[in-house]
Amino acid sequence: DDARPAASTDGSVVLTDVVKRYGDQLAVDSLSLVIEPGEFISLLGPSGCGKTTTLRMIAGFEHPDAGDIRISGASVLGTPPNKRDVNTVFQAYALFPHMSVAENVAYGLQQRRTPKSEIRERVSSALDLVQMRRFADRKPTQLSGGQQQRIALARALVNRPSVLLLDEPLGALDRQLREEMQLELKLLQSRLGITFVFVTHDQGEALSMSDRIAIMREGRIEQLADADTVYSRPASAYVAAFVGQQNFFRGPLEGAGTAVASPHVLVRSAAEPLSVLQAIAAVRPENVEITADAALSDANAVRGQLIGVSHLGETMQYLVRLGDDQSLIARRPTPQAPQLALGQSVVCSWRPQDVLLFPEDDAA
Ligand code: ATP
Repeated sequence: DDARPAASTDGSVVLTDVVKRYGDQLAVDSLSLVIEPGEFISLLGPSGCGKTTTLRMIAGFEHPDAGDIRISGASVLGTPPNKRDVNTVFQAYALFPHMSVAENVAYGLQQRRTPKSEIRERVSSALDLVQMRRFADRKPTQLSGGQQQRIALARALVNRPSVLLLDEPLGALDRQLREEMQLELKLLQSRLGITFVFVTHDQGEALSMSDRIAIMREGRIEQLADADTVYSRPASAYVAAFVGQQNFFRGPLEGAGTAVASPHVLVRSAAEPLSVLQAIAAVRPENVEITADAALSDANAVRGQLIGVSHLGETMQYLVRLGDDQSLIARRPTPQAPQLALGQSVVCSWRPQDVLLFPEDDAA
């Protein structure tokens, strides 16, 4: 394949104790990360956690205050952005409006005085990769948002970088197009074998595309793992809160470290006991059963009032009030969803093996 990087470039990215401050704001806090060649890695986290700053340091637009960044084995700290073996795709694709699609894609190569015949060849192969060759003569204004995003991608791929940095590249697209592009991007990445570093605050996007996800919190990585691990074995309440939805119960730890005595219900877990005083128990909505009535046992079952029912398509979602300070979300597959009336009394229950335990954490 034409756009495949040469075999000599390996495409690994290694950050070691990288620090970036803006005044007294610590944007990236001694962050270390090893990205394997050809890996699709996402940096995921809420606004302000340092994702973009990390990406911009790999690209060379920002310089770390401390630490080292190596690309394909060599430190790039002294290397300007245009000499690094990386390209960046931004959310605002910034295509030149007066140039055709082909001219936009060719621009970088022309700047580098690449021979004309080579430019022609590389531009068509880059446009083929994003299935846009037949739009080569159009102007960007004659393209949809998704098509423009594809051209921005072709413009980055035409340089045949070993590493592609993507900063919320699908953020401007509507949901359906976004999901299509997620699939396309993932396919393209595995076909080309280019290392992708993908910044997003959308957990669904990170879960569906990445080989591994780095969940960031205040300039550090809180957990680095594949989607399955991050979802089913989150390292902290913060990760649990950020990936998927959770019901949290807070209170003193009891039952030899395996149960949280929350104000409305004792929540017992089958997990390893914790040795802290205050803890958080987490139960996903899809693991909460809801019935009109049931016998209450000593733990993991609670009576409440149904205050909301929403149809989410494949699932029905129920909002249950336990008291002034706590509500609970249950979700059932639509075909098995019970018929319940707003305002009625319901019983919610769940299994101890679906309860995760974490030390108290105010960010969750
Ligand atoms: P978002 O999802 O909103 O883009 P992010 O996770 O990418 O957020 P960064 O943009 O990396 O976060 O910002 C990390 C921290 O550094 C934030 O507190 C931000 O306010 C601060 N910051 C980023 N860029 C600058 C800058 N040029 N000058 C001052 N502070 C900055």
